Amino acid sequence: FAPWTDPDQKPIIEFRNVTKSFGDFTAIHDLSLNIYEREFFALLGPSGCGKTTMMRMLAGFETATSGDIYLSGKDIGHVPPNQRPVNMMFQSYALFPHLSVWDNIAFGLRRESKDKAFIGDRVEEMLRLTRLTKFAKRKPHQISGGQRQRVALARSLAKAPKLLLLDEPLGALDRKLREQTQFELMDIQEKTGTTFVIVTHDQEEAMTVASRIAVMDEGNLVQVATPAEIYEAPNSVYVADFIGDVNIIEGRATQPGTKTGIAWAEGQPPILATPAKSVEAGQSVHFAIRPEKVTIDVERPDRPNTFRGKVIDIAYLGNISTYHVELAGGQMIKAQMVNARRLANRHITWEDEVWVGFTDTAGVVLEE
Ligand code: ATP
Repeated sequence: FAPWTDPDQKPIIEFRNVTKSFGDFTAIHDLSLNIYEREFFALLGPSGCGKTTMMRMLAGFETATSGDIYLSGKDIGHVPPNQRPVNMMFQSYALFPHLSVWDNIAFGLRRESKDKAFIGDRVEEMLRLTRLTKFAKRKPHQISGGQRQRVALARSLAKAPKLLLLDEPLGALDRKLREQTQFELMDIQEKTGTTFVIVTHDQEEAMTVASRIAVMDEGNLVQVATPAEIYEAPNSVYVADFIGDVNIIEGRATQPGTKTGIAWAEGQPPILATPAKSVEAGQSVHFAIRPEKVTIDVERPDRPNTFRGKVIDIAYLGNISTYHVELAGGQMIKAQMVNARRLANRHITWEDEVWVGFTDTAGVVLEE
């Protein structure tokens, strides 16, 4: 994976040491973050971690208790919502039921008293962008949920905001439509060049659409990185566990430096690993490894990091199978295999004694 570096990009948003408290509860703690022009940025985290509060401060519905928020280099702390080049699309869409699709999209432009020809052109352009031209005359109740979502998007983009905030925009759609709409969102974001900031608690959604993800925990940023970086090199057990499936094995570093062993069970060879940061001998660590990086074999493979285990459970999921294997000391580990490629392993079954393995760079060593 490539770490996120693009020297040409300018920050559109800068949070500078922002704290937000509600009474004596602090929802956001001294948070600093840059979001760059044309990014599709995702705020991701469990319920209550402060995602919506961040969005509401960007939109101007909340003011920071301390710290500053800059938009295109200007402090927007005291700029009211309607004077910010920012639009927010809510999960409920809030379309006007008595207005046609066309009039819903034109609504904001009319309120700004733009001239008729301008409004007409702009609405037509938005209809084309969101593939709604043939539904222009219908009312919201005469179109599907996915189409309503696109009307809301067209309406939010009609005024050409610099920044569009999307709060769980696909929450109301079923899984298939959600996936399709994610690709549409990405396409529209790219075509318009608008910076999108999306709030979601769905890690797959964030991974799919975003150029970068900020993982939040109780009002703090834990990691801000590309989807691949977050998946391949999570900086904490919290992130590793929140994004995708992961095995976490607790142990102690056996030697200092950036090549270490991890003692994890009595009488077992240590796990050989390459920590991103140098560790101290004796330090307690967590070893995190994705199930798809773990292999299982009947014959002992000739390489380090090979451990004896017993198959406890196999979940066949069509495209992949997940093997739950018990290692020494009751340590469980999950191994995932693509069925189409690993037909050779199909004969492995419950209770089989197997060899579990991984390379010394397949996992990450985490301090907490
Ligand atoms: P969800 O995914 O459930 O929407 P979230 O990450 O968006 O959660 P926020 O809505 O930002 O979370 O809320 C963060 C914290 O701040 C929560 O603990 C919430 O209860 C608290 N909070 C938010 N708004 C207020 C308010 N107006 N008064 C008091 N507490 C608030």
